[in-house]
Amino acid sequence: MKTLPDWLNPEPWLNRTFSASEVRQALSAEAPDETTLAALLSPAAADFLEPMAARAQALTRRHFGRTIQLYVPLYLSSYCSGGCAYCGFAADRRTDRHALTFESAAKELDAIHAMGFEEVLLLTGERSSQADLDYLRECVRLAAHRFHNVTIEVFPMAEEEYRSLAEAGCTGVTLYQETYHPGTYDLMHRWGPKKDFFRRLEAPAQALAGGMRFAGIGALLGLADPRYDMLALYRHARYLQKTFWQAGLALSFPRIRNEEGGFIPPHPVDEKMLAQIIFAFRICLPDVPLALSTREGAAFRDGMAGLGINKMSIASKTTVGGYGGEGSKEGQFDISDARSLDEFCAMLRTKRLEPVFKNWDGVYRLTA
Ligand code: SF4
Repeated sequence: MKTLPDWLNPEPWLNRTFSASEVRQALSAEAPDETTLAALLSPAAADFLEPMAARAQALTRRHFGRTIQLYVPLYLSSYCSGGCAYCGFAADRRTDRHALTFESAAKELDAIHAMGFEEVLLLTGERSSQADLDYLRECVRLAAHRFHNVTIEVFPMAEEEYRSLAEAGCTGVTLYQETYHPGTYDLMHRWGPKKDFFRRLEAPAQALAGGMRFAGIGALLGLADPRYDMLALYRHARYLQKTFWQAGLALSFPRIRNEEGGFIPPHPVDEKMLAQIIFAFRICLPDVPLALSTREGAAFRDGMAGLGINKMSIASKTTVGGYGGEGSKEGQFDISDARSLDEFCAMLRTKRLEPVFKNWDGVYRLTA
């Protein structure tokens, strides 16, 4: 059985229990650290959601103002050789497979840009003959002609491959470890390149070493004990912050959603627990952007906007295409918040939050 390196292993925290008074102490910590996070993620902290929310909101306002940064995902390809048990694009799922041609990718990008977005996240499954590095590089170029900020959520790569994408105009990489628990990871990733736990773990560092300015990391909540995964996520984030102190980091908290095949998460996380996780991370990493996608429902997202979360997607499609022309029928997972961009921005303004479309300028890109 693979074991985690000591710098990442959260096991020492799992048998530690926290009392209500220790949670109160954590809530007033002047320099929150890993002990603070462990206390705020503990069962005892579930009774302190209101004060946690208040502190999270104050810190979010201090570091990000009353703003919510917006982005939109574009799925380039649903071809995948991977066998991830929880994914609608897994190779053993009967789904219509598509990859955007460069012409259709350009149309999709134009349609998204016309909506007002300045940040686009390009996604694929595992590396395939339909969506390999050359394909991705060309899609990045097409996006970089239209958007100030182009990021990717694709297969792990080597440092030099990331560098070639950075030179084509890509500024950031999102790569979720899914779970930091090696045994669960092995079970969930039944076959394919993604089965290599450590290759995936090292990829965000490879991306930053390769010239990417931002790395987004996270774990797919529901696969393993959420406290284990969130404590390991914190350790991973601190490691990247210390090693690449000039780079930007962002964290996301995706929860498993319905998809074709009906995967049932072994460790379901309810909204109350998800809120506790978001507040705990905002308190312990006050200046790190925290993102929430349309996997979550409108009511929960409205509640979290500005209350810890400062970055959100909207008007998302998880099918390949669908913004400019015909998309495929089946997506990677179901979307829970299907509001339009206008509806979402109107909601933000009623909460006196300002939607931000651009917080990065294309002139800062690495150029070849
Ligand atoms: S999660 Fe990614 S690698 Fe795994 S099956 Fe889905 S698309 Fe493929």
